[in-house]
Amino acid sequence: MTDMNNWHLCYIGLGSNLEDPRQQVSSALEELTALPQCRAHAHSRLYRSDPVGPAGQPDYINAVACFETTLAPLALLDALQAIEQAHQRVRIQHWGPRTLDLDLLVYGDQIIENERLTVPHAFMKERSFVLYPLAELASDLILPDNTQLSELLKNCPVGTLEPISQ
Ligand code: ATP
Ligand code: MG
Ligand code: MG
Repeated sequence: MTDMNNWHLCYIGLGSNLEDPRQQVSSALEELTALPQCRAHAHSRLYRSDPVGPAGQPDYINAVACFETTLAPLALLDALQAIEQAHQRVRIQHWGPRTLDLDLLVYGDQIIENERLTVPHAFMKERSFVLYPLAELASDLILPDNTQLSELLKNCPVGTLEPISQ
């Protein structure tokens, strides 16, 4: 489903901790710019973060990308999942290691709650590896529930998160 007259500003969180994570994230950033009905704007630096979820996983590489799209939210999720599949994403364990994770963080000012999609992303408010890269792109962002990104950052220590690229 498309909405050709309306461009929606979106933020996508990227993460990888398998099979050359830097390369996975870098190539996914390229692939996002090539999506149909999308105009790429910018992406954050790449960051290294400690794994969340099951112990013993490799470190993660994370980034956030910003673009506009005329794709409807579920069509965008389909496109993101197609990219994950092209990166041989296998879901074995909840929050387990993965070649590529693409999460829709924000879709314009919409609040979406359905079987396949919760937007803004359910855990973004407490994840340093989302909030700090996001702040590089949109430090004055306000979420649809009127939460300011700057306030979320105050309550979310940077911890061991570190940028690894310029
Ligand atoms: P988390 O959501 O905690 O970051 P995850 O990214 O590892 O965990 P996945 O296995 O990638 O979870 O996705 C599980 C399901 O989450 C997907 O099948 C998708 O339908 C659903 N989902 C709900 N909201 C979103 C969203 N905002 N972005 C991406 N997937 C979402
Ligand atoms: Mg995720
Ligand atoms: Mg995901």
